Amino acid sequence: MNYIVFDLEWNQSSTGRVIKNQYGALPFEIIEIGAVKLNDSMKIISSFDRLIKPQVYLKMHRAVEKLLPISMRDLMKGKMFQEACEEFFEWCGEDPVFVTWGDSDLLQLQRNMRYFGISHDFDKPLLYVDAQRIYSEQFLDGVKCVSLSVAVDALEIPKGKSYHRALYDAQYTALTFAKLDPYLVRTHYSIDTFCIPETEAEEICLTEEDIQQYVSAGYKTKEEVTDNRFLKSTRCFLCDANMRRLVNWFCDNGRNYYAAFSCKEHGKITGKFRIKTTDDGRYYAVRTFMLSDNRGVKEIRDRRTREQDRLKQREESLKAFGQE
Ligand SMILES: [Zn+2]
Repeated sequence: MNYIVFDLEWNQSSTGRVIKNQYGALPFEIIEIGAVKLNDSMKIISSFDRLIKPQVYLKMHRAVEKLLPISMRDLMKGKMFQEACEEFFEWCGEDPVFVTWGDSDLLQLQRNMRYFGISHDFDKPLLYVDAQRIYSEQFLDGVKCVSLSVAVDALEIPKGKSYHRALYDAQYTALTFAKLDPYLVRTHYSIDTFCIPETEAEEICLTEEDIQQYVSAGYKTKEEVTDNRFLKSTRCFLCDANMRRLVNWFCDNGRNYYAAFSCKEHGKITGKFRIKTTDDGRYYAVRTFMLSDNRGVKEIRDRRTREQDRLKQREESLKAFGQE
């Protein structure tokens, strides 16, 4: 495996006005790329680090200035994004598997590439390792996300370098990644959705051992996505048999949908999906089915109870408000 752990730093408009060109918008302009390459025993064998000369936002946003130990003057000595990007992919080598903390870095990299008119032959579908998600699967509830520094502290990784420099963050991510369960890493690839499937025929359905991920095509409305019958499928992703519904699909806080099933042959199976939007305003769904157990089903049941309580409380407070 050619693991490339990378991290980006970016700046944004100091006035709040997002610059667009014929290719699309650039909400965040990359100002630093840092990366490390790992060998099969998860040791760092090579590093990459480039400061990028800003071409779009020439003033540091206040929040970025506070967070990053880099000044505009430093950045002006940096490389043009086009050149740094080319050097980065050359350094990555053949068939890189990207590892990042969260899902933003790969997205912002591709947005910047689109803005600057850089094309690159990414795999389709592009699978990557989101170490933050796997960390949550292994140590938290699989939904909650924590910052890199929280994970570094929890895993007692020695510190010495400051955060928010791309190379150091990439190193910390690599050290965290090395402590993740290899089985979870192997079965929990994330699917990059910067370029979603154009048609139903191109939809992505990826099954790795006891987990299946599905990315739908894009639709004009949210309803068109949730009406897609395959999305709320009640068939087992392993044997295609009809499953018994234990908890029917329900929506939690308007964002995530959950359900729990039982397959005669494969036992408990939990499902979750989320509706997302593309840069051009289309809606699509990302769904995960996984083998589970009584505990997993209970978690979903509890989640539904909490959601029902929340709705009930809201209704009551609305009623009380109406009576005043
Ligand atoms: Zn089954």
